[in-house]
Amino acid sequence: MPDCIFCKIIDKKIPSDIVLENNGIFAFRDINPQAPVHVLIIPKKHIPSLMDLHDTDGKLLGQVYAAAREIAKKEKVDETGFRIVVNNGADAGQAVAHLHFHLLGKRKLLWPPG
Ligand code: AMP
Repeated sequence: MPDCIFCKIIDKKIPSDIVLENNGIFAFRDINPQAPVHVLIIPKKHIPSLMDLHDTDGKLLGQVYAAAREIAKKEKVDETGFRIVVNNGADAGQAVAHLHFHLLGKRKLLWPPG
């Protein structure tokens, strides 16, 4: 998607601090981290939001959570704990219209979120 900032990051037209990349998934550090570990996990396929997922995207979601487990181990939060967040739509503050999963950790995370 030509105007999508995350598609440009996947294509390496915009630099990023890459944490993991494989066939279907790209993961990189958030530019404005909200925790000592803050990684964005995104499908390489342009999907604007959670509401645009289809029943046939189950394999892709499996890849996202496999990447999350791998990153959690790499970042050493697999035992201390971490949170996966998807902001969907305006009320949730979704700023980038390319489905992304925030992986946050290495600090005590509050609940309920703000
Ligand atoms: P959301 O508010 O859920 O749409 O999250 C978008 C996230 O993308 C924010 O946490 C931003 O800090 C992050 N972000 C935006 N541009 C970049 C970039 N060029 N590199 C890394 N993270 C970015």
